[in-house]
Amino acid sequence: MTNARTHALAMDAADPLRPFRNEFLIPKHGDREQTYFVGNSLGLQPRGARAQVLEVLDKWANEAVEGHFNGQTAWMTYHALVREPLARLVGAQPGEVVAMNTLTVNLHLMLASFYRPTPQRPAILIEAGAFPSDRHAVESQLRLHGLGPATDLVEVEPDEADGTISMAAIERAIAEQGPRLALVLWPGIQYRTGQAFDLAEIARLAHAQGAIAGFDLAHAVGNLPLALHDADADFAVWCHYKYVNAGPGAVAGCFVHERHGQAGLPRMAGWWGHEAATRFRMAPEFVPAAGAEGWQLSNPPILALAPLRASLDQFDRAGGMTALRAKSEKLTGFLDALIRERLSGTLQVITPAEPARRGAQLSLRVAGGRERGRELFEYLQQTGILGDWREPDVIRISPAPLYNRFGDVLRFVEEVEHWRGV
Ligand SMILES: *Cc1c(COP(=O)(O)O)cnc(C)c1O
Repeated sequence: MTNARTHALAMDAADPLRPFRNEFLIPKHGDREQTYFVGNSLGLQPRGARAQVLEVLDKWANEAVEGHFNGQTAWMTYHALVREPLARLVGAQPGEVVAMNTLTVNLHLMLASFYRPTPQRPAILIEAGAFPSDRHAVESQLRLHGLGPATDLVEVEPDEADGTISMAAIERAIAEQGPRLALVLWPGIQYRTGQAFDLAEIARLAHAQGAIAGFDLAHAVGNLPLALHDADADFAVWCHYKYVNAGPGAVAGCFVHERHGQAGLPRMAGWWGHEAATRFRMAPEFVPAAGAEGWQLSNPPILALAPLRASLDQFDRAGGMTALRAKSEKLTGFLDALIRERLSGTLQVITPAEPARRGAQLSLRVAGGRERGRELFEYLQQTGILGDWREPDVIRISPAPLYNRFGDVLRFVEEVEHWRGV
């Protein structure tokens, strides 16, 4: 790609999503904008978020307790305002999703309902090197049942050269556990390597052994097209502050397949999960609302939920995940091609090369080890290019199709070349 600059300019000029960049507040580095590749950690602020938060503050100021009941954005039903756009984002039926709590809390709520070990079927299967919070959640759930990781937690080790995991290894691990397997908890995208997985296939393999299939979609939601209902996931959890741009600690998401939504599954219950029609009778018996909403505990933090409305509206206006993914594949493909062509002695892409096995993020191992890696990372920061660092020697770069340009990708590559030259 000798004419990378021409190519980048042409791609940006022809990009149908180009106007969306102006809907984001991009931090400054000196007098220019940062080149921000950290949407996998905290997405940028959509300009529309402030209006949504102010709307809540104003409603509170002007209506106080009446704000629960008045108008289109009454707080009593505020969570339902995001139900349909959220269902579109993850490929679910509206009744299968709810915005509530935070990711790890939702994971515990789901494990409380779906991890029901018996002496014959105690095991949970996850990926080795899982995000610590997921590992803590799973281990603590095992301990709540008097079990432990030594005997009942199966961690599937990477079997591919760059630390990724083949489908064959997952299939083997599931088959080995067989009837001992209670639950598979798998990431949509592994946070460290950026590897994406075939969720429908993993659900199929888990179900074939009589196990539950649950997914952590922290790095997949807003990044990959998802079809949770059709993939036959039993449950899924995710956060909204990464690719969904709903702000630090944003209210998270949860999916419960419709076949479980009516089944009266045991759960950790709270009054907001009680069926809405009779909630305010304040009776002692818990009657769960149908669907994922039946797992709500508390009346939601409305101020924290407000930015999500602005974010989900952007995904809809952008044409949904199909449109975003079309750009994302090109954008990340451009980054991948330039690194392989121009930086091969400096950066090694450890994320799988096949587009179907990755999302926006590329995980880049820096040649020369940790010290060289930190040098490069800090150099990039000083020039206003933000990626993030994963010990011991990996820089993660995630071009987000809503606000990153092909020109941003080129700038990254040119700055690495410059650093290498000095
Ligand atoms: C980001 C992330 C989390 C964060 O958990 P919170 O409860 O939102 O703090 C958990 N698990 C995975 C896999 C993540 O990527």
